[in-house]
Amino acid sequence: MVAHAITMRNRVVAYSHRWRAWELPAWLLAFIAAVIAADLAVIGACAAATRFRGADLELAAVLLACNLLTVELTHRAGEPAGLVKDVHAIWELPLALLLPPLYALLVPIPRMALVQWRVRPTLVYRRVFTAAALGLSYGAASLAFHVLGPEVTGAAPGAQARVLAWTLAAAACGVLKSAVNKVLVMTAVKGADPAASVRENLFTREPLFHDAAELSVGIMVAHAVTASPFMALGALPLVALLHRSFRHAQLVDASRIDAKTGLLNAGTWLREARLETARAVRTRAPLAVAIADIDHFKNVNDTFGHLAGDAVLAALASALNALLRDGDLTGRFGGEEFCILLPGTDAAEARQITERLREKISRIVTPVSGATSGDPPLQVTISIGVAALGSSRRDLDELLAAADHALYQAKEAGRNRVCVLAASPG
Ligand code: GH3
Ligand code: MG
Ligand code: MG
Repeated sequence: MVAHAITMRNRVVAYSHRWRAWELPAWLLAFIAAVIAADLAVIGACAAATRFRGADLELAAVLLACNLLTVELTHRAGEPAGLVKDVHAIWELPLALLLPPLYALLVPIPRMALVQWRVRPTLVYRRVFTAAALGLSYGAASLAFHVLGPEVTGAAPGAQARVLAWTLAAAACGVLKSAVNKVLVMTAVKGADPAASVRENLFTREPLFHDAAELSVGIMVAHAVTASPFMALGALPLVALLHRSFRHAQLVDASRIDAKTGLLNAGTWLREARLETARAVRTRAPLAVAIADIDHFKNVNDTFGHLAGDAVLAALASALNALLRDGDLTGRFGGEEFCILLPGTDAAEARQITERLREKISRIVTPVSGATSGDPPLQVTISIGVAALGSSRRDLDELLAAADHALYQAKEAGRNRVCVLAASPG
């Protein structure tokens, strides 16, 4: 299970490297443009229909100030790559519930601009898309809440039953906002990286817990500001703390991962692999370890340059992620060496799996920037050493030593091949 979650998280990191507009499929570019256009159209329509009132503007100004202040208070915690969890719905949801939809449609725009400027500059079209997707999500929540009618959603809840109805309606609209936003964002993420997992990124315990915390504080703030907009200020320290705790969880995650490839780093792989191996030994389940090493990688650097070499490493890592099962554990051992743990796999199966890897990887062509049609394609092969648990190999260190020995044999035998060290009987 741990291994599964990590593999999926690796994919989030991998996708974040591949979001350059020119690398996206045409339908995805069209989808992104359509979301931005729809947001602008809805903003235009709502602007024409909105009657501006002093009290609304005052509440919007206080919540917007808190929203931007949250960016400032938390910008030192940074913004990790990949899908980002934040706490801004705490300010933005009350705006959507208490004010006409126009305010909620607009509020992500200054927030995204400030994040881009103060926290982390990234591709501008990504920020614009995120702001548009958020705007549409809040717009939908706001519209739904207002459609419920003033009976339920009147700004000053009084009797107990009414407070309860108001809170439930607010929660339902918060969930609606999350759902619309997740559908829009995950469509883009899936389009950029078909291997990305919706379930692991959005529907496991940790992200759902974050969503619930954000929603409940957002509803409390919405209640508080109906008494006075300035009650919002009291929630600022709590919001900043919550934001930091979300970031901390993401940074701990990032420290497990090799930045260049998105795979587990060597230390994390060893720790996780040791646990899996001990479990397999205890339950007498089969398990295999493979070490893959790129053939003549030095020539790649010498011929195409180091950046192209790095692109090969990233392409190879993403192929490993796509081709292996969720429970397999893939890490970058060092330079151009990768380590793979295959739980529930005996030597014969491990040979089939790694043969498939070797064959598929040999067909990957890595694009080289500035290359012309006459240049040779950038393709690499790998050699793989494999060892499975057996009577003479009973822990991870013994497995790794055996796989390393097998890798040496694969290189000696001419490279671009798999060598499996047969398990001793027993
Ligand atoms: P062999 O077939 O015997 O494995 O040959 P090789 O050239 O791949 O082996 P060697 O271990 O001699 O060279 C590995 C090369 O990998 C040397 C180093 O420059 C390169 N390398 C290691 N880490 C990185 C990296 O992060 N990026 C790039 N571009 N190159 C790297
Ligand atoms: Mg090497
Ligand atoms: Mg090598």
